[in-house]
Amino acid sequence: MGISANFKGLTKDKMPHDLPKAYDPTAIEDHWAGYWVRENLFAVPTPDPAVRNPAGSQPFTILLPPPNVTGRLHMGHMLNQTEMDILTRWRRMRGRVALWVPGTDHAGIATQMMVERQLTEEGTSRQKLGREAFVERVWAWKRHYGGAILEQMKRLGVSVDWSREYFTMDERLSIAVHEAFVRLYHQGLIYRGAYIVNWCPRCQTAISDLEVVHQEQKGHLWEIRYPVLGDGGKETGEFITVATTRPETMLGDTAVAIHPEDERYLHLHGKKLRLPLMNREIPIVVDPWVSREFGTGAVKVTPAHDPNDFAIGERHHLPSINVMDDRAHINENGGAYQGLDRYVARKKIVADLEAQGLLGAIKDYTNNVGHCDRCKTVVEPRLSTQWFIKIQPLAEKAIAAVKPNANGNKAIRFTPENYEKIYLEWMTNIHDWCISRQLWWGHRIPAWHCGACHKITVPQPGAAGDPTACAHCGSVTITQETDVLDTWFSSGLLPVSVFGWPNITPETRADFDAFYPTSLLVTGFDILFFWVARMIMLGCWFSSDVPMADGSPRPPAETVPFREVYIHALVRDANREKMSKTKGNVIDPIEIVKQYGTDAVRFTLASMASPGTDIAFNVARTEGYRAFANKIWNAARFIFMNVDKAAETGSTPPSLKSWSSFGSKGHKEFYQLPFRESPTRIEDNWIVTLLARTAGEVNEALENYRYDEAANTIYQFFWGSFCDWYLEIVKLRLIFEPAEDEAAVERTVRAAAALNTLVSVFEVSLRLLSPFMPFLTEELWHAVYDGNPPAKSIALASFPGPGEISSEMLAAITKMEILQSLVTEIRALRKEIGIEEKAIVPIEVRTDTASRKIAEENRDIIERLARVSEVRFVNQIAAGHSKHSTPAFDLAVIYERTIDVAAERERLTKDIARYEKGLAGAERQLGNEAFLAKAPAQVVEGLKKQEAETRLLLEKAKVALDALPNE
Ligand SMILES: [Zn+2]
Ligand SMILES: [Zn+2]
Repeated sequence: MGISANFKGLTKDKMPHDLPKAYDPTAIEDHWAGYWVRENLFAVPTPDPAVRNPAGSQPFTILLPPPNVTGRLHMGHMLNQTEMDILTRWRRMRGRVALWVPGTDHAGIATQMMVERQLTEEGTSRQKLGREAFVERVWAWKRHYGGAILEQMKRLGVSVDWSREYFTMDERLSIAVHEAFVRLYHQGLIYRGAYIVNWCPRCQTAISDLEVVHQEQKGHLWEIRYPVLGDGGKETGEFITVATTRPETMLGDTAVAIHPEDERYLHLHGKKLRLPLMNREIPIVVDPWVSREFGTGAVKVTPAHDPNDFAIGERHHLPSINVMDDRAHINENGGAYQGLDRYVARKKIVADLEAQGLLGAIKDYTNNVGHCDRCKTVVEPRLSTQWFIKIQPLAEKAIAAVKPNANGNKAIRFTPENYEKIYLEWMTNIHDWCISRQLWWGHRIPAWHCGACHKITVPQPGAAGDPTACAHCGSVTITQETDVLDTWFSSGLLPVSVFGWPNITPETRADFDAFYPTSLLVTGFDILFFWVARMIMLGCWFSSDVPMADGSPRPPAETVPFREVYIHALVRDANREKMSKTKGNVIDPIEIVKQYGTDAVRFTLASMASPGTDIAFNVARTEGYRAFANKIWNAARFIFMNVDKAAETGSTPPSLKSWSSFGSKGHKEFYQLPFRESPTRIEDNWIVTLLARTAGEVNEALENYRYDEAANTIYQFFWGSFCDWYLEIVKLRLIFEPAEDEAAVERTVRAAAALNTLVSVFEVSLRLLSPFMPFLTEELWHAVYDGNPPAKSIALASFPGPGEISSEMLAAITKMEILQSLVTEIRALRKEIGIEEKAIVPIEVRTDTASRKIAEENRDIIERLARVSEVRFVNQIAAGHSKHSTPAFDLAVIYERTIDVAAERERLTKDIARYEKGLAGAERQLGNEAFLAKAPAQVVEGLKKQEAETRLLLEKAKVALDALPNE
């Protein structure tokens, strides 16, 4: 008997597959996480243009939504990365070139804030340091701390290509940012203008609408009376009353507006008012935008501090007077209030108005106040000169990319589908994008202001180096713009810039050709507009003039940054509450990972992840999956123990070769392996068929982002079928003994055959589980091959395909199900009657010929699994035994014993109460319309089945109770 290469060198003292007794996730996870990075296992080199698509299929490409360089891993990341890793590992194992590109974002505001806080602690500030030294300081911070989140990702086992890791401020990505800006500028799509922006007085920068969080806040509505002026500028004694939530802005009022048809004010058309405290004459303007119904129907107009007022100001050519500085202190335009903080000024203004008798009523008022998303400071709408992107025609292309074309095809598909509508609505109503930020950390805008002619010079596309003179007048006194670009401007370019854009030449374009458009983006709803929408706008715009690999013009469907977008759900706490620091219910993924292992946490998330459904993260569930991992570990130990026994008795060791392509097309023969054995073993045929069916279902589920279905199917197979049934049955045949006589030899040959199927099915199952639990499966897979596996990692082996299932195979399932229900019914009956666990008892079975044949052929299984001493086939179950019936058989357990009537009465009474309670619960649930409408079909089916079974048990218990002799 030969020893295969896989098991060569086994000795009794040293057996690499001799696993430690206890499953310790920390030890194995650290080991493999390091191994995967060290071995660069998931690196995808730039393809040789001559050998395009070596795997004969489109590569699977995915970008990691770059976490902030200041970030720490949270549960949202963990879900997002688990989902991405499952899909990437699965696609890779299915034979596609799978490239997952990681990186981090320089996160302008967040990072600057972090370093500024440090400086404050050191008693200094960025202003004292100066721009250059400050930026150097941020770089130093980044070098020191910036990699933390990536290190955490490594611990999660993400199968990214670390050799392609980027940082959005890297030189090559900065070149892309520069080029994108100058191109848009010279295409007439970037302009500079004064507009109302959301200004954060803490961060001292403009922030986008998306970065403003609105919170309901209790405040006041102050009424102020503005004296009407008559001829010669004299007060007439009449007043117009306006109301405001921000009295301090009145310092910048330049008009009061009324509706043209408001009868209360018809006589005041064309008149002027005196602005209190500032003693400025301001006009009354008529504007149909004013609502007659709201308040007094008269509104103060402060064009420099309110977007609606700004629009009124434009329409009526009113001056804009900015009364606040960058820190929201009143500036030189605020008269006596100059230098005061906005809220101090507010108090003083209200007091002064009151003293002058110009304050009307003060009403309680709840309004939605905008806060800076980063620092929570109240945002001040403020007129400021900023850089903008003219959003058309970029938005137009971004809409076309998502809408179905004439053939009904969409270049980008959203899952869940409803996000498509949300995206399109936003994109249709989009405003010009303010891309400048008054920060020091970020990509400085490549524009130079001329000290002589005050015009702007922006380098030409493709030009190298900074300009040295004004492009308009030639003056050399030019200075670079101090603003930097919005962080989302650079991250919006990532899909093109990580693959080399704008440097696309015949020599450099291999990456771009191979990997653009990317296949999929997995991200959260919160950055749909921030990031997803901007990648679509910029990706479609800038890739459209990059020709295809063959030189032909790029069709619109090939300009998109990704073909699919999967929006993942939220991870909530076990009570479905949103996690928040204030509530104190935040779960730290790293802590949970330390406690239960990454694999168990990944499996928990996967088992609940499906499109559009939030996840209620429950640690109890993770505990359950930790037990699942343990179960698999123990199964492995049992299997390896038998492999060792086989080796000791010199029997043929398992050969896994023919199983390596389980389920792939054209590899039908492997299915036949167990079927060819003689005598045919029902459990082998069954488990192999089940494995093939499971593989089919998992592939199908993953195609549809049903991580939950995939995970649960594998779980059912591994625990419910493989461990609970198959292992128990196959034990009957695993008898290895010295070849002392012919019978012993025959038993050993049979055992070797059984072991072969057992090990093979186990190995294929590990591959099926691998994308979900990469660490455990890697460890056990290497052990299966005794440290000498056919590939460096299970992640590089092939994922079981759906294959084809023959009718003969399906028959194996039906047969096994009869056997299983026999065993299950015997067990249930034993429990009902109260037979001790260890007792071995005879049974009577009445059944049809076919089922009888199955039961007869597999007596040993029934006897072993249901602790049966003898199976008697009868035409009629003898009277006096309680029996179970299924459509296929009637069954009785023959058990004589003296009954303790009192104890039996008590037991049955308890049972009845329990069944009744269970039944009531099930009925309540099945009567709940809302539950029925939401619950998956199989859950409802299961409940109904459970209800019917409980009803049956209840009736039986009642009958048994009645039958007890009276004492
Ligand atoms: Zn702020
Ligand atoms: Zn000039």
